[in-house]
Amino acid sequence: MNTDGWQELIKIQQEEENIFTLKKRLDQLQNDNLNETNLQRIRELENILKNIGEKISKNDKEQRKNENELTMLNEQRKVISEKLYGGDIYHSKELNQLQNKLDEMEKKIGILEEKILSLMLEKEDLSSEEKKVKENLALYNQEYEKTKNKFELEQAQLKQELKSHFVKRKKLVSAVSQELYDWYNKLRKEMGGKVLVPVVNGSCGGCHVVLSNYLISRIHFGKELLTCENCGRILYWNE
Ligand SMILES: [Zn+2]
Repeated sequence: MNTDGWQELIKIQQEEENIFTLKKRLDQLQNDNLNETNLQRIRELENILKNIGEKISKNDKEQRKNENELTMLNEQRKVISEKLYGGDIYHSKELNQLQNKLDEMEKKIGILEEKILSLMLEKEDLSSEEKKVKENLALYNQEYEKTKNKFELEQAQLKQELKSHFVKRKKLVSAVSQELYDWYNKLRKEMGGKVLVPVVNGSCGGCHVVLSNYLISRIHFGKELLTCENCGRILYWNE
């Protein structure tokens, strides 16, 4: 086998590990994205705000209706009271009737004025609640933006790093013989993880099985690439 570039293959393996680690960090970053919680809270507050807004507009509508009614009743009262005190009517029965009508009118006006007042108070409460929710929402939005910017910056940095490792890897691959590279890839697919391992204290750097002296000397002196009889990884001399 043409073993040209086997030293580069070790570096390629290292780059692949770096790429794997960076991809994992990118995934982790995506998962840890704290903004999910912020976003949820923002949606909740927006809903609360919408509800308050609806209540306020209902309150306004009712208030307008009440005020129109009050204007109308006040006009009617004015007409009745002008009739009653105008001095044109002397008949006591008619005067009594007018007085009753006026009393009734005053009562209606009183009830309406109370309704108007209570709606005013309700609106005050709603408005102050609305203000509080808006302030809260602004804070959450600010926090969201801050976290988003931080996340995007970190993500961009990781992607940049990842790219540079891909470039390095590509450059290294061009120095390895096709035959060796194919073998490496085949083994990589079969066993995953590290395919090239050093001889460490006479043992396989992958599965730690003790290697025969014959195998070690062939690797050492022959500069051959041989595989571990136990795990099948490619062994290289590094001692
Ligand atoms: Zn082994």
